[in-house]
Amino acid sequence: MTASVDNAQPSTASTDTLGTVIDDVIRPQAAIVDRERTFPRRGLDALAAAGLLGLASSTEVGGGGQSMRAVATVIERLAAECGSTAMVVLMHYAATAVIEAHGPREVRAAIATGGHLTTLAFSEYGSRSHFWSPTGTATVTDDGTIRLDARKSWVTSAGEANSYVWSSLPLSQGVGPMTLWLVPADSAGLSVTGDFDGLGLRGNGSRPMTADGLRVPSAAMMAADGAGLDTALGAVLPWFLVLNAAFCLGLADSAVAEAGRHVTGTTLAHTGAALRDAPVTRRDLARLMIRTAALRAFLDDTLTALESGRDDATLRVLQVKALAGETVADVTDGAMRLCGGSAFRKELGLERRFRDSRAARVMAPTTDALHDFVGRVATGLPLLDEANR
Ligand SMILES: Cc1cc2nc3c(=O)[nH]c(=O)nc-3n(C[C@H](O)[C@H](O)[C@H](O)COP(=O)(O)OP(=O)(O)OC[C@H]3O[C@@H](n4cnc5c(N)ncnc54)[C@H](O)[C@@H]3O)c2cc1C
Repeated sequence: MTASVDNAQPSTASTDTLGTVIDDVIRPQAAIVDRERTFPRRGLDALAAAGLLGLASSTEVGGGGQSMRAVATVIERLAAECGSTAMVVLMHYAATAVIEAHGPREVRAAIATGGHLTTLAFSEYGSRSHFWSPTGTATVTDDGTIRLDARKSWVTSAGEANSYVWSSLPLSQGVGPMTLWLVPADSAGLSVTGDFDGLGLRGNGSRPMTADGLRVPSAAMMAADGAGLDTALGAVLPWFLVLNAAFCLGLADSAVAEAGRHVTGTTLAHTGAALRDAPVTRRDLARLMIRTAALRAFLDDTLTALESGRDDATLRVLQVKALAGETVADVTDGAMRLCGGSAFRKELGLERRFRDSRAARVMAPTTDALHDFVGRVATGLPLLDEANR
């Protein structure tokens, strides 16, 4: 895994524009997206029109050229309002990272200008969360095109994205465990093969997809045959893990803020006391605030480690999603308890954040896998070998 990113500063114009998009479209739509399981197309169109879907793209192709830190801020702010939208945009930025490095210029330019939504299609029914061991195949056909066959178990924005960054076994034996492809959404043989009715992130369209004799030109290969795992670890994973941590931070921070408002403004008629007047309530709120602030500081340190090329940058990147996934699960659980039955209903938006937050720890690499990776780095073992493939 490489551990460096450029250090461009956040664009004030972009973040202010984001505030307008959030106020006008994303916040008003969030509960509807969750309740109706609606893909957040309106929010995405607004983000695209504001230039925010091209934020991570190079200025050379018309994108924002922004740093990982600036992009993480966007994900954090979106997650505070609508987890589904935030996850769609997160997967778009993660896939953009590999397309920027290895994709064709016209697709990079389309992403940069907001006209192209992309995502990652890694997880498979066969190897489940072990995305580093694809079971789907790629074969050269008689006419020189490539045939892809696979059963992908989860693809965010399935049937909605314009392209899929797609993993497969390599074409040739002995070159490496994985090859990456850029699969256009309109490819014959590509289909969405199920519904998404999840606990949380209910609008993000994480549906299964099947490639059945799908054909792409050989030029659809990204990086060399067999080099897909190195690309996934080097170009995609840092973005995915850091942005996932920012996603968790946005959810946790907004849950704590909501809990704080509730315990401050809710009173018991028979005593005149507010919920905050109970010391145990203040203590519990403080614990949630401290957990969230610690996550913010850790994420900030991770970004600093990446920006400065610090020796522990790789370790920090692996740690940050594990910490974030568990922190947000605990913090949203604690916020639910603090706010009682009011949180159990939909009126505070807390139960939605609680449900949305459960995704981070099971998205691959899962918390379990990351703990193993961190232990491997700490003891001088490779991230992956025969024992954990
Ligand atoms: C909302 C959402 C969106 C998603 N979007 C995408 C997407 O866009 N693209 C994509 O490719 N995937 C996506 N995924 C899939 C995700 O990355 C995982 O692959 C998926 O959640 C794994 O589920 P599973 O049931 O197959 O887990 P399993 O692999 O069956 O794992 C079950 C449990 O066992 C644990 N476990 C597994 N192996 C080990 C081990 N060796 N040691 C210790 N514990 C282990 C896991 O940590 C997990 O807790 C998404 C998932 C969710 C929830």
